[in-house]
Amino acid sequence: MLDRIRIVLIGTSHPGNIGATARAMHNMGLADLALVAPRCEPLTSESISRASGADHIVHAARLVATLEEAVADCTLAVGASARSRTLPWPMITPRTLGERLPQELSGPDSRVALVFGREDSGLSNTELQRCHAHVHIPTNPGFSSLNLAAAVQVLAYECRLASLEASSDEPAQDEEPQQPLASHEELEHYFAHLERTLVAIGFHDPALPRQLMARLRRFTLRARPERMELNILRGILSATEKCAATPGTDILEASAKERECRNGGTDSSASRSDSER
Ligand code: SAH
Repeated sequence: MLDRIRIVLIGTSHPGNIGATARAMHNMGLADLALVAPRCEPLTSESISRASGADHIVHAARLVATLEEAVADCTLAVGASARSRTLPWPMITPRTLGERLPQELSGPDSRVALVFGREDSGLSNTELQRCHAHVHIPTNPGFSSLNLAAAVQVLAYECRLASLEASSDEPAQDEEPQQPLASHEELEHYFAHLERTLVAIGFHDPALPRQLMARLRRFTLRARPERMELNILRGILSATEKCAATPGTDILEASAKERECRNGGTDSSASRSDSER
């Protein structure tokens, strides 16, 4: 389970924090580190000394330019935040995060990312809105921000506790096989497609966004769609785009044709029925 948990650090500015993060990870049995656009050289004498023997994790860390690249293959991304933001998002405690991990990681392609922000400004709203949920370490409200590596340590510890508990549990006998969840990359393609379609049908004005896309993101991420479900939604968007591109399209007729094509012309309901009107 621990090998499918990735620690993602965005815009880190102190090499010592990268080294201390590697140490915290290795202590807890985590090894997958991604550095998004670090604002410092990750491998320095300071990072190596703060890693205290875990510098192999810094050597092996993946360096990427964007959060999207760092979490593209992840089925759950959780952003660690010291503060609450403008648009409330699903918020979990470190303990709840740990408790959810065995189930989250039970699918064959599942992978979890824990995303941490910059020392000076944390995670941006855009970055937080790319996460399914946020985790806040309950601290003194008057002094809530932990050192970056200390925050990694707390969450990595919860991951380890959860993994120890899961390995001592009896394997479940009658659990339904899980359908693969959509990956972060698939979700981002869906959101881009959704926005394009909403603009095409005149529902969304990118010049006046009014949080529409953020709200749709929050709603979709809360639902945890399976890959198959997202494919259905993308099929609906493609059909909608096609209608929007053909002025004067009779929507019922177009959808009947669409179904006919999909079913190889064998769909008897392709002619309009009363229930469809
Ligand atoms: N000054 C920043 C905090 C930076 S601390 C701010 O006000 O947002 C660096 C990172 O450590 C944060 O982006 C967050 O990912 C993590 N972190 C620090 N304190 C945390 C807390 N109480 N709960 C969850 N994450 C925390």
